[in-house]
Amino acid sequence: MTSEALQAAKAMIGKKGSRAAIPTPALVLDLDAFERNVARMAEHCKVSNLSIRPHAKTHKCVTIAKAQIAAGAVGQCCAKLGEAEAMAAGGIESILITSPVVTVQGIERLMALNEKMPDLMVVVDNPVNARALAAAAAEKKRVLKVLVDLDVGLHRTGIRPGEDALALAELLDAAEFLELRGLQAYAGHLMHIHDFAERREKSLAAMKVLGDQRDALKAKGLPCDIVSGGGTGSYNIDPEAKVLTELQGGSYVFMDKQYHDVALGNGASFPFETSLFVQMSVVSANTKNLATTDAGFKSFSTDAESPKLLSGAPEGAGYFFFGDEQGGVLLPDGASLPIGSVLTAMTPHCDPTVNLYDAYHVVRGDTLVDIWPIEARGKSA
Ligand code: PLP
Ligand code: MN
Repeated sequence: MTSEALQAAKAMIGKKGSRAAIPTPALVLDLDAFERNVARMAEHCKVSNLSIRPHAKTHKCVTIAKAQIAAGAVGQCCAKLGEAEAMAAGGIESILITSPVVTVQGIERLMALNEKMPDLMVVVDNPVNARALAAAAAEKKRVLKVLVDLDVGLHRTGIRPGEDALALAELLDAAEFLELRGLQAYAGHLMHIHDFAERREKSLAAMKVLGDQRDALKAKGLPCDIVSGGGTGSYNIDPEAKVLTELQGGSYVFMDKQYHDVALGNGASFPFETSLFVQMSVVSANTKNLATTDAGFKSFSTDAESPKLLSGAPEGAGYFFFGDEQGGVLLPDGASLPIGSVLTAMTPHCDPTVNLYDAYHVVRGDTLVDIWPIEARGKSA
């Protein structure tokens, strides 16, 4: 969205009915649903005796991070260094970087960030990286907190459980300017399993691997006060395993189509609701049973299914990608959508969709009430 469009939107804040007039395509956040999601996760973690450290990879927004912290979160997870720098610049004081930082320049920036921040942690999954971090921290004479990233089956990052992980933990613990705090593991391959019984069984098996590793560290006298992991799909399974000390849920604040479908498989026990939408307008409607909107590949992530149409479209209408700039709406016989019609869709996958926008248009009911910048948008390095 151009800054002119954002300026136009800002001028509408607080005006009744302004939601329908937001310049499109736009990312729209339903504040009531968002606040309920934040409160429900906070309550769930409280009664489960777990900390919540929500993942900023989902929202990339300082205002949202602060809302989660105000509700009891201990800080934020960040996927990348750039995301962490943006969150720290916005005043977030406790951050865990959940991917390894391995490049020479990255390690330099990491040390600079660590000097500025009260509570920064980073994961490590490789002894070469452990030595590089140890040397860089020693040079700065500033302690860097680290977690061992454990591979519990996704094979994306993380060290092999068992002896390899134990040796890495010993290496980190022995480094004068590194402070080993514990373990991280993320079972991303299990989060979207639709069948709850299967998701539960596999998640508990992954947690068993993590718990065994924690026990192995403790048996050697190594510190393991923090065990961080889990996500939206395992939020109500992880407490049962009693392994995590903090839950890294991200998507629960927005509930995209992928998680909406998981929630359907979960029945009534899934308390989070869709709060994030893309709003678009019909820009052309000259062909029978077809309307064209202003939201295409540049307005939705395309790694998942098509966006799910919600308000504004007739029953039975379906969205399809119609190119970089446009979307198509296939209409049932007899239905039409005149130009200027405003439609909303559920995002197929929230995190990469958010990364396409500069700001959230925050609404209550049909009124635009605020605009929240997405400070870490595009900060993938
Ligand atoms: N932790 C890590 C390391 C992740 O990569 C992710 C998301 O991919 C999350 C937590 C958040 O998971 P979810 O969006 O399933 O809540
Ligand atoms: Mn995701």
